[in-house]
Amino acid sequence: MYTFLCKFVSNVIKYIFMKNRFLLSIFFLVFISCSHTENTSDKVKNKQKQTNKFAIVIHGGAGTILKKNMSVEKEQKYKAKLKEAILVGYNILKNGGTSLDAVEKTINVMEDSPLFNAGKGAVFTHDETNEMDASIMTGNDLNAGAVAGVTNVKNPISLARKVMTNSNHVLLYGSGASEFAKEQGLTIVDPSYFYTDKRFKSLQKIKEKEKSVLDHDEKSAFYDPDIKNSKYGTVGCVALDKNGNITAGTSTGGMTNKRWHRIGDSPIIGAGTYANNATCGISSTGWGEYFIRGVVAHDISAQIEYKGISLKDAAKDVIQNKLTNLGGTGGVIGLDKKGNMVFEFNTAGMYRASVNDKGEVVIKIYKQ
Ligand code: ASP
Repeated sequence: MYTFLCKFVSNVIKYIFMKNRFLLSIFFLVFISCSHTENTSDKVKNKQKQTNKFAIVIHGGAGTILKKNMSVEKEQKYKAKLKEAILVGYNILKNGGTSLDAVEKTINVMEDSPLFNAGKGAVFTHDETNEMDASIMTGNDLNAGAVAGVTNVKNPISLARKVMTNSNHVLLYGSGASEFAKEQGLTIVDPSYFYTDKRFKSLQKIKEKEKSVLDHDEKSAFYDPDIKNSKYGTVGCVALDKNGNITAGTSTGGMTNKRWHRIGDSPIIGAGTYANNATCGISSTGWGEYFIRGVVAHDISAQIEYKGISLKDAAKDVIQNKLTNLGGTGGVIGLDKKGNMVFEFNTAGMYRASVNDKGEVVIKIYKQ
């Protein structure tokens, strides 16, 4: 039976081949030209992809940053570091690197500087320790990694990246996060590495102020503008690479004088960080509790997705209306898939910088 079937099939093929040689030739010609066209159009597509725009934006925290309180020297220091950081990411993107690399390496520069409240310059907790949070998200696959309450990892954003790429989890905290960092071969430092006089003095000042306000009225300490506005200074970066992929990342020491292992918005995906190639990438900075309650970063993306509005309008509504009405303070930076940038904040200032694909660097600090 089997032999009979084989013979039958091979005879049918022979018959078709003999009778329709002409038709078969035509078929092959059409097939080859179609696949050629497909290859060509693929090449065009790839070429288009590779010539796509790229862009990068960063922040170094929002808060009561007033020109009258800033010396020329201090301003120059901040500007120089912001420029150094953003150019690291810019060069990665310009050379065809990924937005993921650009975001991590840019944030590393700010984490290694004592100027910002992240890594080396992290603020102090009430117990005079430093507990850092960070997160990163890639917009092509909605993958994310985050860490909270780490005390001995030099670059928390690099650990967040490892959580995203080398674990089955999204968010690790405390000693478990440190253990994972060691396994991944990241640089572990003694917690004393994070000591800076400036941050330690800020803690003492806030504690004194808090004590004097608390002596008067317990509740008002929480709302005292001096206390609440002096606590900020996170770092963040959003990048769009030549393949149209958006990555967002945020790294922080949290808020000065935080207690009970408080975790802010920075490691919370959707609050402190969000990225989706179809909409935008966002990194937040400000009073974290409000950013968590307002799911700020995701809300901006959702408004673009559901309402079809621009990144600019979405960020404006979320920060100037929704966050402000809740009583929250701070801001966001963001990029959409076309490389449009946004810097929206309701505080007096936000350290921020951008570079476009032509290499033009813009650095700003105050509200303009
Ligand atoms: N959002 C951070 C937090 O609440 C603080 C900041 O952005 O400065 O932990």
